[in-house]
Amino acid sequence: MSLPERASEFQNPDIEVLIDEATLKRRIAELGAEITRDYAGKTPHLVCVLKGAVVFLAELIRHIDLPITLDFIAVSSYGDATKTSGEVRIVKDLDESLAGRDVLVVEDILDTGLTLNYLRNNFLSRGVKSLRIVTLLNKPSRRLVEVPIAYKGFDIPDAFVVGFGLDYAQRYRNLPFVAVLKNVSVEDPRSP
Ligand code: 5GP
Repeated sequence: MSLPERASEFQNPDIEVLIDEATLKRRIAELGAEITRDYAGKTPHLVCVLKGAVVFLAELIRHIDLPITLDFIAVSSYGDATKTSGEVRIVKDLDESLAGRDVLVVEDILDTGLTLNYLRNNFLSRGVKSLRIVTLLNKPSRRLVEVPIAYKGFDIPDAFVVGFGLDYAQRYRNLPFVAVLKNVSVEDPRSP
């Protein structure tokens, strides 16, 4: 598939569109509608995992027709590389308490599951009323830890993807689509 005109500065031969903008927006609208139905009468507290999930969050909340509140957390897992360390560290913690709240964690991509597994356990220990996860992308083939996912945008193959918030060395987050970045070697998470 060819790149949209407006992304001409990204005419990089190593980039191949995987999910185009229209498809992303359509699916995210469906997720928003599902969340709106499921949380009727409640005020979900959306916790966005920085930085990758911000673009997804911004699109998703426009389709949630309920009062919502937002908070942000930043964790380090990948750094600038393409290999997961297995270690998760909170770089920026939440501003508000989660106690008694219906928390919906908004994540960009679920890969090995290590990040969300850590965050889920961490948030459950903070006295939430309920906890669910919404992820835009899911790479089932690389899972090391099973994490319950309430809402999922797309299953994708085992490739390194960028765009729509996702980066490689902090670049490409502003691509309006999800693309495979070719010629990037992604380590097998099971290798020592
Ligand atoms: P996990 O802990 O599930 O292995 O990894 C989750 C995090 O790894 C994501 O939030 C994201 O930051 C990063 N990640 C995993 N796969 C990819 C990918 O294909 N592209 C990018 N840009 N980041 C990824």
